[in-house]
Amino acid sequence: MSVESSASVTAKGSEQGHQARFWADEEADLLATDREHVIRDSKTPSGDVLISNLRGPIITDALYRTFKKRGLRIRYVFTIDDYDPMDSQSLKEKAAWAEHMGKPFAHIPSPEPSEASDFARYYASRFLATFEGLGIRPEEIHWMRDLYRSGELDKQIDLVLRNAATIREIYARVANVKKDERWLPIGVICENCRRLGTTYSYDYDGETVAYECRPDYVEWAKGCGQSGRISPFKGNAKLYWNLQWCAMWDHFGVTYEEGGKDLLTAGGSRDRANEIYREVWKKEPPIGLVHEFFTTSGGKKMSTSKGLGAAASELVAIYPPELVRFLMLRTHPKRHVEFDPAGLTLPKLMDEYDQGGDAFLTEPESDKAKTWLLSQVAEDPEPPGFRVRFSIVADWLQIPSVDPHSEAEERKAAPLNPSEQRDLDRRVALARVWLERWAPDEARFSVLSELPAITLTDAQRRYLESVKQLVGTTSDPEALQQELYETAKRVGLVVDGKVSRDAFSAIYLAFLGRPSGPKAGWLLRALDDDFVRRRLDEAVKAR
Ligand SMILES: [Zn+2]
Repeated sequence: MSVESSASVTAKGSEQGHQARFWADEEADLLATDREHVIRDSKTPSGDVLISNLRGPIITDALYRTFKKRGLRIRYVFTIDDYDPMDSQSLKEKAAWAEHMGKPFAHIPSPEPSEASDFARYYASRFLATFEGLGIRPEEIHWMRDLYRSGELDKQIDLVLRNAATIREIYARVANVKKDERWLPIGVICENCRRLGTTYSYDYDGETVAYECRPDYVEWAKGCGQSGRISPFKGNAKLYWNLQWCAMWDHFGVTYEEGGKDLLTAGGSRDRANEIYREVWKKEPPIGLVHEFFTTSGGKKMSTSKGLGAAASELVAIYPPELVRFLMLRTHPKRHVEFDPAGLTLPKLMDEYDQGGDAFLTEPESDKAKTWLLSQVAEDPEPPGFRVRFSIVADWLQIPSVDPHSEAEERKAAPLNPSEQRDLDRRVALARVWLERWAPDEARFSVLSELPAITLTDAQRRYLESVKQLVGTTSDPEALQQELYETAKRVGLVVDGKVSRDAFSAIYLAFLGRPSGPKAGWLLRALDDDFVRRRLDEAVKAR
């Protein structure tokens, strides 16, 4: 196999896979094969998508792809919840948006009027572009403003209002949320101030509801005091979250909807919605797994210039899309992920990703292979070709004489094909960022153009003298590495039966001026043979 990373990972290759079914297959097993299915996801365009918010959409997309592959008839529907009121605390603190608190995002001005007509479209277009780049492509995208204004949801609204008493009872029973006996689960858009987060609605007569825009109804927005009666239809009002959820399920015939743990805990929004769907709509709610949180560790650390900001757009701009998908899919959805881009996270992630690519070639039914496949932007990608291990690319970048392209071709012993070249280019770009921002000191080095002032022991000199004889004997860095070990043993650089640190540190001192560095076999292979011999000579003679 012409894959760099395969050698060290074969032992792990088939550990998984035989104990439990792959999580996405387990979900597919739950869906009846004799009917059509709809999988739904949604997002409120309230601001930039955070990295942690990508886990849900990527899991949903992976499930959708898996369901399709399994032969299920499935439609993927996405709704943009742009009728939700602005209620985020972070926005409240920004004076520019304070006057819009409580209004639907669809009715709030765009932060960049030249780019989008309103706040919701501005942020929705950003996350839809992020999704597109990640290969998340719902078959249908619906805007809540259109669904409400067109009257398509009027039937749902009428059903909710007629069953308000049942819904109040379920709120109290399932979530211990008590509402007074007049309260209706709908937010009317105030005719005066256009807020909907501040309105209290009551008294549905089949055509209109009464409402009051209360100054103190919610903490995060101030109502204007207006009151009156208005038709709740054709976009004048929005169903509260749980009810809108049910309305979506019914309207689109949703049979599968996964969600984050924050919403799907016992007694939480989803439980309430499920119960309401059963009792009011008389239907069985969609099934769907609950994914655990994806958190970025060290909140403060992340916001520094060397960290990775929490915005998804930044991660997506730096990591190739396959790696972002892989990051979200490599861990079972029901396990918490704590992500810190610093240190060796990226080389390890890339190695694991490459192992997945290897598995795709050798064990396509393994969990690793399935995860790799679902991490691709294309649903039917070409199999992985020749790849260079990420840490080696990072080493190459630090050796001025090395040209990654020709080095890679030498390793492959053949020209790179276009996709292999693209893969290499991506690794080079990513390794540059990693070296700049996240690499630990031991991964950073530079080959000194002159022999630095160093002091070696006699044993170390003998060692370097012998190493000189190895130069040019093999083009395989792994074999050279092995020979460097054997040579150390031969010259007696052994402590407690193991090769002494002194051996390799002699090499690092001679080339890098410090006692540690990248794998010596790779380092020496990456340098010009004559240069290596000359430097070793100089080091042996130095006093
Ligand atoms: Zn008002």
